[in-house]
Amino acid sequence: MTTAAAYDNRAILKYRISFTAGPDLEGTIERMSGTTVVGSTYYHGLPEPKGKFAGQYRHDKDPERQTVNLLANAVFERLGCNDDQYLAEILTQVTGGSIALYSDKGPCHSCRAVLKQFLQDYPMITSCVVTYRKTDGRGRPIQALEPAGGDLYGSYGYEDAVEVNGNWCKVLR
Ligand SMILES: [Zn+2]
Repeated sequence: MTTAAAYDNRAILKYRISFTAGPDLEGTIERMSGTTVVGSTYYHGLPEPKGKFAGQYRHDKDPERQTVNLLANAVFERLGCNDDQYLAEILTQVTGGSIALYSDKGPCHSCRAVLKQFLQDYPMITSCVVTYRKTDGRGRPIQALEPAGGDLYGSYGYEDAVEVNGNWCKVLR
């Protein structure tokens, strides 16, 4: 196994979404930070609210945001809809589901907003659990809510995450 750079971040989204007709949409999406999502990017996230990069989108290529958008792309395809029809089609055709997101670092302010918006769009999803590491690749402890550092504003993770099986865990739903 190669050693990833300390700033690389991996996200793995496991999902199951059910519809009024047809089989469940079920699978796993894995992405690394720094790569670009192909297809629709319905969930934009948030710009930096202050600091050196205030107003700029510094988290477009974060893997958590990518996985949620790729899941949205799969739903788009399943429902055969476009951006304008998406929410209405979800509300009429999606009947339930669950998602579980793992990432190395924990979601930043922008990715937390993406998850929040996704869950608002999918009130029928009954389970959403986020997990992330308690220790980084160099063995350094990661706080539940880790300051972003550098010139970035904000933080990674959730202040009230709890330890589960050696990871931080936050139940959003
Ligand atoms: Zn992020």
